Amino acid sequence: MPVTAVSGSASGIGAAVCQALRAAGHRVIGIDRAHSEVIADLSSAAGRQAAIAAVLEQSEGVLDGLVCCAGVGSSALSNTIVSVNYFGVTELLDGLAEALAKGQAPAAVVIASIAATHVNPDQQPMVAAMLAGNEALALEQANALEQSHVAYASSKYAVTASARSKAEAWAKRGIRLNVVAPGAVETPLHQAALNDPRFAKAVREFVAPLGRSAAPEEVAHVVVFLQSSQASYVHGSVIFVDGGMDARVRPARF
Ligand code: NAD
Repeated sequence: MPVTAVSGSASGIGAAVCQALRAAGHRVIGIDRAHSEVIADLSSAAGRQAAIAAVLEQSEGVLDGLVCCAGVGSSALSNTIVSVNYFGVTELLDGLAEALAKGQAPAAVVIASIAATHVNPDQQPMVAAMLAGNEALALEQANALEQSHVAYASSKYAVTASARSKAEAWAKRGIRLNVVAPGAVETPLHQAALNDPRFAKAVREFVAPLGRSAAPEEVAHVVVFLQSSQASYVHGSVIFVDGGMDARVRPARF
């Protein structure tokens, strides 16, 4: 039975991923702030290290899959966005890579966002700070900007770029790694943006060509495919699950 760790397992897309993986025969080790096999706060370095240690203990040091789904939206504070969405992902990937390398046809997925395409990384110094692993500087820059939606887009751009930059090294270790970039998905995170007067109008108007937002299961099914042997040659890719939104906004850029 494949063993897969899933962060953000208690809600939304992560909960749907857990359910779909279990249905596909996986044993799931959920990581979240509550209601999960591993209780941890991924916003701090200590919380991330505790999460890694607990996953290694519960998996006996061998993992077949990892899905990094935990995240906060634009309604959160900029520093929380950077800490959870970037460092809460990259440190889990790095800390669990050795366990994945020992697994059976191991694969990992990072849940980023279509928002990654909404930022020019050259104009946001916090992107370079994140990619350099400098959390203190990235937090300082994100806080100084006082635009949480830019921190969100920057965190999603940086985590996508970071995952893609691992493609060579992880292939050598036998681990596939892909990124899923959802559009609007009906979850508490999405509802929080709808409830936030700063973002409500933009979120309401962000309607994909398919004419609706996604159910969390529609993202989860793509994740389960990427984690399966059917996706054995898919590696280093960014898969948009966005109802056609990216194709509308950037028809000639891909
Ligand atoms: P959600 O709020 O339903 O779930 C997020 C989960 O992450 C929650 O269970 C939460 O407790 C957990 N989490 C947050 N901070 C944490 C922390 N410090 N430590 C541990 N766990 C923490 O949201 P969702 O929409 O399912 O989001 C899942 C992922 O999908 C996020 O990375 C989000 O950015 C991404 N995403 C969502 C949408 C959308 O429209 N919902 C669109 C694009 C990308």
